[in-house]
Amino acid sequence: MDLGIKGKRALVCAASKGLGRGCAEALAEAGVDLVINSRTESEITKTASEIAAKYGVSVTPVAADITTEEGRAKVLAALGDADILVTNAGGPPPGDWRDWDRDDFIRALDANMLSAVALMQALVPGMMDRGWGRVVNITSQSVRSPIPALGLSNSARAGLTGFVAGMSRQVAGSGVCVNNILPGIHATDRANSLDDGVAGRQGITRDEARKQREAGIPAGTYGTAEDFGATCAFLCSQQARFIVGQNILLDGGALNVTV
Ligand code: NAP
Repeated sequence: MDLGIKGKRALVCAASKGLGRGCAEALAEAGVDLVINSRTESEITKTASEIAAKYGVSVTPVAADITTEEGRAKVLAALGDADILVTNAGGPPPGDWRDWDRDDFIRALDANMLSAVALMQALVPGMMDRGWGRVVNITSQSVRSPIPALGLSNSARAGLTGFVAGMSRQVAGSGVCVNNILPGIHATDRANSLDDGVAGRQGITRDEARKQREAGIPAGTYGTAEDFGATCAFLCSQQARFIVGQNILLDGGALNVTV
Protein backbone atom coordinates (compact mmCIF):
# COMPACT_ATOMS: atom_id res chain seq x y z
CA MET A 1 0.00 0.00 0.00
CA ASP A 2 1.27 3.48 -0.86
CA LEU A 3 1.06 5.39 2.44
CA GLY A 4 1.16 8.73 0.61
CA ILE A 5 3.90 10.21 2.81
CA LYS A 6 6.93 10.08 0.49
CA GLY A 7 9.02 13.25 0.97
CA LYS A 8 7.57 14.04 4.42
CA ARG A 9 9.98 14.78 7.26
CA ALA A 10 9.91 12.88 10.59
CA LEU A 11 11.57 12.91 13.98
CA VAL A 12 11.84 9.46 15.55
CA CYS A 13 13.16 9.50 19.13
CA ALA A 14 15.12 6.72 20.87
CA ALA A 15 15.63 4.96 17.57
CA SER A 16 19.10 3.37 17.39
CA LYS A 17 17.48 -0.04 18.04
CA GLY A 18 14.28 -1.71 19.19
CA LEU A 19 10.81 -0.27 18.63
CA GLY A 20 12.05 3.21 17.72
CA ARG A 21 14.27 1.78 15.02
CA GLY A 22 11.36 -0.34 13.76
CA CYS A 23 9.32 2.86 13.33
CA ALA A 24 12.22 4.68 11.65
CA GLU A 25 12.73 1.85 9.16
CA ALA A 26 9.05 1.59 8.26
CA LEU A 27 8.81 5.35 7.69
CA ALA A 28 12.01 5.28 5.62
CA GLU A 29 10.53 2.48 3.52
CA ALA A 30 7.55 4.79 2.86
CA GLY A 31 9.97 7.45 1.57
CA VAL A 32 10.07 9.69 4.66
CA ASP A 33 13.25 11.69 5.43
CA LEU A 34 14.32 11.25 9.03
CA VAL A 35 16.02 12.79 12.00
CA ILE A 36 16.67 9.99 14.48
CA ASN A 37 17.91 10.22 18.03
CA SER A 38 19.41 8.21 20.87
CA ARG A 39 22.11 8.87 23.48
CA THR A 40 25.03 6.78 22.19
CA GLU A 41 26.69 8.60 19.30
CA SER A 42 28.35 5.57 17.67
CA GLU A 43 25.08 3.58 17.67
CA ILE A 44 22.79 6.30 16.32
CA THR A 45 25.31 7.19 13.59
CA LYS A 46 25.59 3.54 12.55
CA THR A 47 21.80 3.09 12.48
CA ALA A 48 21.38 6.28 10.43
CA SER A 49 23.92 5.11 7.82
CA GLU A 50 22.28 1.68 7.58
CA ILE A 51 18.75 3.09 7.12
CA ALA A 52 19.90 5.71 4.59
CA ALA A 53 21.77 3.07 2.56
CA LYS A 54 18.85 0.62 2.62
CA TYR A 55 15.99 3.00 1.74
CA GLY A 56 17.67 5.92 -0.05
CA VAL A 57 16.18 8.60 2.20
CA SER A 58 17.98 11.32 4.14
CA VAL A 59 18.67 10.25 7.76
CA THR A 60 20.27 12.68 10.23
CA PRO A 61 21.47 11.19 13.53
CA VAL A 62 21.43 13.29 16.71
CA ALA A 63 23.07 11.92 19.87
CA ALA A 64 21.17 13.39 22.83
CA ASP A 65 19.18 12.43 25.89
CA ILE A 66 15.61 13.18 24.79
CA THR A 67 14.42 13.28 28.41
CA THR A 68 16.39 16.47 29.11
CA GLU A 69 15.65 20.02 27.98
CA GLU A 70 19.19 20.36 26.52
CA GLY A 71 18.83 17.07 24.65
CA ARG A 72 15.52 18.11 23.11
CA ALA A 73 16.93 21.52 22.16
CA LYS A 74 19.79 19.81 20.29
CA VAL A 75 17.40 17.49 18.45
CA LEU A 76 14.95 20.29 17.57
CA ALA A 77 17.81 22.50 16.30
CA ALA A 78 18.90 19.75 13.89
CA LEU A 79 15.31 19.04 12.86
CA GLY A 80 13.70 22.36 12.02
CA ASP A 81 10.12 21.56 11.06
CA ALA A 82 8.61 18.09 11.01
CA ASP A 83 5.46 16.56 9.53
CA ILE A 84 5.68 13.42 11.67
CA LEU A 85 6.77 12.94 15.29
CA VAL A 86 7.36 9.59 16.98
CA THR A 87 8.07 9.99 20.70
CA ASN A 88 9.92 7.31 22.62
CA ALA A 89 12.45 6.89 25.44
CA GLY A 90 13.73 4.10 27.66
CA GLY A 91 11.28 2.80 30.26
CA PRO A 92 11.69 3.38 34.01
CA PRO A 93 13.29 0.64 36.16
CA PRO A 94 11.17 -1.99 37.93
CA GLY A 95 10.78 -1.92 41.71
CA ASP A 96 8.39 -1.96 44.63
CA TRP A 97 5.73 0.72 45.20
CA ARG A 98 6.88 1.16 48.81
CA ASP A 99 10.35 2.31 47.76
CA TRP A 100 9.81 5.04 45.16
CA ASP A 101 10.34 8.60 46.30
CA ARG A 102 9.51 11.92 44.67
CA ASP A 103 12.74 11.97 42.63
CA ASP A 104 11.98 8.53 41.17
CA PHE A 105 8.54 9.74 40.07
CA ILE A 106 9.92 12.99 38.63
CA ARG A 107 12.51 11.04 36.60
CA ALA A 108 9.79 8.71 35.25
CA LEU A 109 7.48 11.62 34.45
CA ASP A 110 10.30 13.47 32.67
CA ALA A 111 11.18 10.40 30.60
CA ASN A 112 7.80 8.92 29.77
CA MET A 113 5.35 11.81 29.93
CA LEU A 114 6.83 15.30 29.92
CA SER A 115 9.45 14.77 27.18
CA ALA A 116 6.69 13.63 24.79
CA VAL A 117 4.50 16.56 25.84
CA ALA A 118 7.38 19.03 25.27
CA LEU A 119 8.09 17.64 21.80
CA MET A 120 4.41 17.87 20.84
CA GLN A 121 4.30 21.46 22.14
CA ALA A 122 7.35 22.27 20.01
CA LEU A 123 6.27 20.60 16.77
CA VAL A 124 2.47 20.33 16.59
CA PRO A 125 1.78 24.09 16.20
CA GLY A 126 3.83 24.07 12.96
CA MET A 127 1.97 20.99 11.74
CA MET A 128 -1.34 22.77 12.45
CA ASP A 129 -0.20 25.88 10.54
CA ARG A 130 0.67 23.69 7.55
CA GLY A 131 -2.60 21.74 7.87
CA TRP A 132 -1.08 18.27 8.14
CA GLY A 133 0.72 16.23 10.78
CA ARG A 134 0.98 12.87 12.51
CA VAL A 135 2.18 12.08 16.03
CA VAL A 136 2.67 8.59 17.42
CA ASN A 137 3.65 8.17 21.07
CA ILE A 138 5.15 4.83 22.07
CA THR A 139 3.63 4.02 25.47
CA SER A 140 2.94 0.53 26.85
CA GLN A 141 0.34 -2.16 27.41
CA SER A 142 0.63 -1.07 31.06
CA VAL A 143 -1.73 1.80 30.18
CA ARG A 144 -4.54 -0.76 29.79
CA SER A 145 -3.38 -3.32 32.35
CA PRO A 146 -0.85 -2.30 35.01
CA ILE A 147 2.36 -4.29 35.42
CA PRO A 148 2.94 -4.54 39.20
CA ALA A 149 6.75 -4.13 39.16
CA LEU A 150 6.57 -1.23 36.69
CA GLY A 151 4.55 1.19 38.79
CA LEU A 152 6.66 4.15 37.67
CA SER A 153 5.87 3.30 34.04
CA ASN A 154 2.17 2.67 34.83
CA SER A 155 1.93 6.13 36.40
CA ALA A 156 3.89 8.23 33.90
CA ARG A 157 2.34 6.64 30.82
CA ALA A 158 -1.16 7.05 32.23
CA GLY A 159 -0.39 10.77 32.53
CA LEU A 160 0.70 11.00 28.89
CA THR A 161 -2.40 9.06 27.81
CA GLY A 162 -4.66 11.53 29.58
CA PHE A 163 -2.87 14.49 27.99
CA VAL A 164 -3.17 12.98 24.50
CA ALA A 165 -6.85 12.14 24.99
CA GLY A 166 -7.66 15.83 25.37
CA MET A 167 -5.05 17.45 23.14
CA SER A 168 -5.54 15.13 20.14
CA ARG A 169 -9.14 16.31 19.82
CA GLN A 170 -8.08 19.95 19.90
CA VAL A 171 -5.70 19.58 16.94
CA ALA A 172 -7.55 17.09 14.71
CA GLY A 173 -9.46 19.88 12.96
CA SER A 174 -6.14 21.24 11.68
CA GLY A 175 -5.23 17.95 9.98
CA VAL A 176 -3.03 16.64 12.80
CA CYS A 177 -3.68 13.12 14.10
CA VAL A 178 -2.17 12.21 17.46
CA ASN A 179 -2.32 8.60 18.66
CA ASN A 180 -0.49 6.20 20.97
CA ILE A 181 0.77 2.68 20.31
CA LEU A 182 0.81 0.37 23.33
CA PRO A 183 3.42 -2.35 22.92
CA GLY A 184 2.93 -5.71 24.55
CA ILE A 185 6.03 -7.88 24.59
CA HIS A 186 8.31 -7.33 21.57
CA ALA A 187 11.64 -9.07 20.98
CA THR A 188 14.02 -6.20 21.74
CA ASP A 189 16.90 -5.73 24.19
CA ARG A 190 14.36 -4.37 26.68
CA ALA A 191 12.38 -7.65 26.46
CA ASN A 192 15.62 -9.65 26.83
CA SER A 193 16.48 -7.81 30.02
CA LEU A 194 12.98 -8.43 31.41
CA ASP A 195 13.40 -12.14 30.47
CA ASP A 196 16.71 -12.10 32.36
CA GLY A 197 14.89 -10.71 35.41
CA VAL A 198 12.34 -13.57 35.28
CA ALA A 199 15.17 -16.10 34.73
CA GLY A 200 17.15 -14.74 37.69
CA ARG A 201 14.16 -14.80 40.04
CA GLN A 202 13.13 -18.36 39.05
CA GLY A 203 16.60 -19.90 38.51
CA ILE A 204 15.84 -20.74 34.83
CA THR A 205 17.50 -19.77 31.52
CA ARG A 206 16.56 -16.74 29.41
CA ASP A 207 15.11 -19.10 26.74
CA GLU A 208 12.97 -20.85 29.35
CA ALA A 209 11.80 -17.48 30.68
CA ARG A 210 10.89 -16.39 27.13
CA LYS A 211 8.92 -19.62 26.48
CA GLN A 212 7.07 -19.09 29.74
CA ARG A 213 6.16 -15.50 28.82
CA GLU A 214 5.25 -16.50 25.23
CA ALA A 215 2.82 -19.10 26.62
CA GLY A 216 0.75 -16.19 27.98
CA ILE A 217 0.36 -14.62 24.51
CA PRO A 218 -2.47 -16.02 22.32
CA ALA A 219 -0.37 -15.31 19.18
CA GLY A 220 2.28 -17.61 20.70
CA THR A 221 5.33 -15.40 20.14
CA TYR A 222 6.74 -12.00 20.97
CA GLY A 223 6.08 -9.24 18.45
CA THR A 224 8.94 -7.82 16.40
CA ALA A 225 10.21 -4.30 15.82
CA GLU A 226 9.11 -4.74 12.17
CA ASP A 227 5.51 -5.52 13.19
CA PHE A 228 5.52 -2.50 15.42
CA GLY A 229 7.05 -0.18 12.82
CA ALA A 230 4.46 -1.16 10.21
CA THR A 231 1.62 -0.10 12.51
CA CYS A 232 3.41 3.15 13.31
CA ALA A 233 3.90 3.93 9.60
CA PHE A 234 0.21 3.26 8.94
CA LEU A 235 -0.81 5.67 11.72
CA CYS A 236 1.42 8.24 9.96
CA SER A 237 -0.16 7.60 6.57
CA GLN A 238 -2.65 9.68 4.61
CA GLN A 239 -5.16 6.84 5.05
CA ALA A 240 -5.07 7.20 8.86
CA ARG A 241 -6.61 10.68 8.83
CA PHE A 242 -9.73 9.54 10.72
CA ILE A 243 -7.80 7.83 13.55
CA VAL A 244 -7.63 10.38 16.38
CA GLY A 245 -6.70 10.03 20.05
CA GLN A 246 -6.61 6.25 19.98
CA ASN A 247 -4.57 3.78 22.00
CA ILE A 248 -3.59 0.93 19.69
CA LEU A 249 -2.68 -2.18 21.66
CA LEU A 250 -0.11 -4.43 19.93
CA ASP A 251 0.16 -7.44 22.23
CA GLY A 252 -0.70 -10.61 20.29
CA GLY A 253 -3.98 -10.82 22.23
CA ALA A 254 -2.27 -11.02 25.63
CA LEU A 255 -4.71 -8.68 27.34
CA ASN A 256 -7.91 -10.67 27.83
CA VAL A 257 -10.51 -7.94 27.31
CA THR A 258 -13.52 -7.38 25.06
CA VAL A 259 -12.87 -3.74 24.17
P1 NAP B 1 15.36 -0.95 23.53
O1 NAP B 1 15.41 -2.05 22.54
O2 NAP B 1 16.14 -1.09 24.81
O3 NAP B 1 15.78 0.40 22.77
C1 NAP B 1 15.76 1.61 23.45
C2 NAP B 1 16.24 2.71 22.50
O4 NAP B 1 16.01 3.95 23.14
C3 NAP B 1 17.73 2.67 22.19
O5 NAP B 1 17.93 3.17 20.90
C4 NAP B 1 18.31 3.61 23.24
O6 NAP B 1 19.59 4.07 22.82
C5 NAP B 1 17.23 4.69 23.22
N1 NAP B 1 17.11 5.50 24.43
C6 NAP B 1 16.90 5.05 25.69
N2 NAP B 1 16.81 6.09 26.54
C7 NAP B 1 16.96 7.22 25.79
C8 NAP B 1 16.97 8.60 26.10
N3 NAP B 1 16.83 9.02 27.37
N4 NAP B 1 17.14 9.50 25.09
C9 NAP B 1 17.29 9.07 23.82
N5 NAP B 1 17.30 7.77 23.47
C10 NAP B 1 17.14 6.85 24.46
O7 NAP B 1 13.86 -0.67 24.04
P2 NAP B 1 12.46 -0.99 23.30
O8 NAP B 1 12.07 -2.38 23.61
O9 NAP B 1 12.54 -0.53 21.89
O10 NAP B 1 11.46 -0.07 24.15
C11 NAP B 1 11.10 1.24 23.73
C12 NAP B 1 10.03 1.76 24.70
O11 NAP B 1 8.89 0.89 24.65
C13 NAP B 1 10.49 1.79 26.17
O12 NAP B 1 9.95 2.89 26.82
C14 NAP B 1 9.89 0.53 26.74
O13 NAP B 1 9.66 0.61 28.13
C15 NAP B 1 8.59 0.45 25.97
N6 NAP B 1 8.03 -0.90 25.92
C16 NAP B 1 8.71 -1.90 25.33
C17 NAP B 1 8.16 -3.18 25.33
C18 NAP B 1 8.88 -4.36 24.69
O14 NAP B 1 8.44 -5.49 24.87
N7 NAP B 1 9.96 -4.16 23.96
C19 NAP B 1 6.90 -3.40 25.90
C20 NAP B 1 6.23 -2.33 26.49
C21 NAP B 1 6.80 -1.09 26.49
P3 NAP B 1 20.66 4.69 23.89
O15 NAP B 1 20.67 3.76 25.07
O16 NAP B 1 21.95 4.77 23.16
O17 NAP B 1 20.12 6.05 24.24
